[in-house]
Amino acid sequence: MYYPLSLKKSIGILIVFLLAWLVIGSWVNDYLLSFAMTMAGLMLFNYYQLFRLNHWIWHSKRLSPPTVYGAWEYIYEGVYFLQRRNRAKRKELGELVKRFRQGAEALPDAVVIIDSDATILWCNRLARLELGIQWPTDLGLRIDNLLRHPLFVEYFNQGDFSYPIEVPSPINQNKTNEYRIMPYGDDNLLLISRDVTRVSQLEDMRRDFVANVSHEMRTPLTVISGYLEMLPDSAVNADPFAGKALHEMSEQTKRMQHLIEDLLVLSRIESSSERIYENIVQIPNMLAQIEQEAVRLNKEHGHSIHFHVDKSLTMFGVETEIRSACSNLIFNAINYTPANGQIDVHWYREGDNAVFKVIDNGDGIEEKHLLRLTERFYRVDKARSRKTGGSGLGLSIVKHVLNHHNSMLKIKSIVGVGSEFYFIIGPELLPEVVMDTSS
Ligand code: ADP
Repeated sequence: MYYPLSLKKSIGILIVFLLAWLVIGSWVNDYLLSFAMTMAGLMLFNYYQLFRLNHWIWHSKRLSPPTVYGAWEYIYEGVYFLQRRNRAKRKELGELVKRFRQGAEALPDAVVIIDSDATILWCNRLARLELGIQWPTDLGLRIDNLLRHPLFVEYFNQGDFSYPIEVPSPINQNKTNEYRIMPYGDDNLLLISRDVTRVSQLEDMRRDFVANVSHEMRTPLTVISGYLEMLPDSAVNADPFAGKALHEMSEQTKRMQHLIEDLLVLSRIESSSERIYENIVQIPNMLAQIEQEAVRLNKEHGHSIHFHVDKSLTMFGVETEIRSACSNLIFNAINYTPANGQIDVHWYREGDNAVFKVIDNGDGIEEKHLLRLTERFYRVDKARSRKTGGSGLGLSIVKHVLNHHNSMLKIKSIVGVGSEFYFIIGPELLPEVVMDTSS
């Protein structure tokens, strides 16, 4: 155990120096000379100790300090103590880094640590195997020089890491990697890559299967409904039972055709690679056409429907998809609002954004259903949806369309008061804002 030089000890050393001065002074009978001699002795002693300390710190291989006396003993012990403390801290830090690396190596994913200049600081073994990073050759290289797929480069440079992306693997085009980036500390980034080849193959298979089955079922259904429509009235009216059966058959065929059409629309949107920034959708014209269809559908409901449309507001997007989303929301409001209701459709600017909103004063939806409404085939009231001819895919289509257009469906609903379905289109999809900022 080491103690710092105490005041008592310092005074003791000073007394020894004074005594030496007095004794030598009385011996040579000259106190000034004695003072100069003791000072010179003290200076030599101190210089000698400084020289030893310097030698010990810089040249000696010994860790423990040499034996010295007086105040210097405490200085040596102090330096020795600090050295030991630093060494223990370094060891502790080393252990921590080692444990972190062992943890990162044990992960089933490839991990790369990137600094604020996008250069690679460290990566685990899987990153070397699956991303083709050469270690330590690639240390300090920019990550986007190694992972050069345009999708990854665009994702990396835009800086929004709130969602992962799927990109073909840099070492094997038949494999798909999911990249997830997490910012941490001082602008550092943690890149996690996972092999999702199997999941994406299964997803592709599911999509293809649904699309193929729907497509295959469309032809026989068209034939059945064609024949049902062609049956002469005399045959339908000849027997009341046959008439009822034929009517029910044609209703169910129509429902099935509607379902198949929706399934095909959904798989088309899901696998859509159409670029949303290429075409401008004239939303006011499109809403004018939907309004005519809504008026036709509304005949048996008697709602009062009003469209409030900003005639100059257009957006970038895929017209067929946006049309499908808007008409689904409007037709749902018509179908799920009790007779003689009030429906308002809005398309307007709000700051730099555009908003599409459908408000109805129908029965509303209980909160427990709201989160699940966009799931495929989820219906609040199955019997009622069947009566309206709903396939249960409408809001699922809306969700996928909006996802493709960087937006989200939002729903507010109060039971007994009505519902509000809306989505917000960001400035990057509004031609006027884009033109403004680019000029
Ligand atoms: P469907 O084809 O059955 O209409 P959707 O996916 O379009 O399927 O809608 C899912 C469910 O959400 C509907 O079954 C209905 O219960 C409910 N819903 C949708 N729109 C409204 C609305 N405006 N008011 C009340 N309920 C609605």
